[in-house]
Amino acid sequence: MNGPELAGQARATVQIDVAALSHNLSVVRELAPKAAVMAVIKANAYGHGMELVAGALSSVDEFAVSSFTDVARLRAMGVSHKITTLSAQFDQPEVNQLDAQTVLSVFDASQVSALKSSSLNRPLDVWLKVDTGMGRLGFLPNDVESVLGVLRQQKSVRKVGVMTHLANADRPDAPQNLKQIEALELLVANLDFDMVSVLNSAGICSFADAAYDVVRPGLMLYGISPVVGTTANALKLKPVMTLTARLLSVRDLPAGSQIGYGGLVTLERASRIAIVACGYGDGYPRHAVSGTPVVINGEMCSLIGRVSMDMIAVDLGDTKAEVGDAAVLWGRGNPIEEVAAKADTIAYELTCGVTARVQRETING
Ligand SMILES: *Cc1c(COP(=O)(O)O)cnc(C)c1O
Repeated sequence: MNGPELAGQARATVQIDVAALSHNLSVVRELAPKAAVMAVIKANAYGHGMELVAGALSSVDEFAVSSFTDVARLRAMGVSHKITTLSAQFDQPEVNQLDAQTVLSVFDASQVSALKSSSLNRPLDVWLKVDTGMGRLGFLPNDVESVLGVLRQQKSVRKVGVMTHLANADRPDAPQNLKQIEALELLVANLDFDMVSVLNSAGICSFADAAYDVVRPGLMLYGISPVVGTTANALKLKPVMTLTARLLSVRDLPAGSQIGYGGLVTLERASRIAIVACGYGDGYPRHAVSGTPVVINGEMCSLIGRVSMDMIAVDLGDTKAEVGDAAVLWGRGNPIEEVAAKADTIAYELTCGVTARVQRETING
């Protein structure tokens, strides 16, 4: 068949609920009432659409992204907020072109050199990133005083903040959390910074005493629980992304039938099996196991057999369903955290992985 598909017959669709974004922001503000909110919208706002999310969250204080390309995209749509680049390397010509509301993360000696040799006449704010135990980006605590001293002498540098990132905040009981927070506290007590930032979403939920000046929520803004073993619902978060797809086929299959590639599953009894128009080609995780929840007509059903590129099979059990009904793969009514766990991954990877062919819709509540 040629020609455009009718909208109602799109294979898979993601809905982005902009009202849920605002609601989740209010949860962040309740937990960290004194801190400025730097909304993290890197990776196309975790797959939700960077421009859409930036527009819906214009009441935040600042944004964070990973690249100067993202900064340019946001400026092009008129975003005038401060925007921090969390993980961008830069050289001296690049620095000279940045606008004064762009805030750099300085995590490597090469960046200090670039700032030193910069001929910038409008100085920039920077975050001095400290590795207190994440083992990713940043200077070790012992080196911070000397780096700070150098940054303070540069005409290209205006304010200097200190930022660190917790490696285990999703597990609040992990002793590393307090070790990292204490290491940062020690620096803040002894050195003079213009601003301090420690917490991502999981940190905001469990260590709000360390909110300091700026908090950096990503995941929780998208309505996903950042804390292992705690549901989004318990944290009063509302899912922003819902992935749905239509039923292509509903069949009764006899006991003994094998389902999908590799015949991983053999039906023990006669079963009603739906084929849903969503697969790993849409970003549904191929490693999701049989039993992964799929919600159809408000009822919990389960994935059965291997995920294909364009399709999955679902055991309908006693659920009544017809060709053309919608299945909720994750989102409203089907928590993404559970789907991610069944696929041995994290919700971040699922939302980031929705592919270009999936139709997108914006809804408001
Ligand atoms: C991605 C990121 C965040 C946001 O993390 P969430 O877990 O999504 O809240 C905060 N800080 C840094 C440095 C990051 O890289």
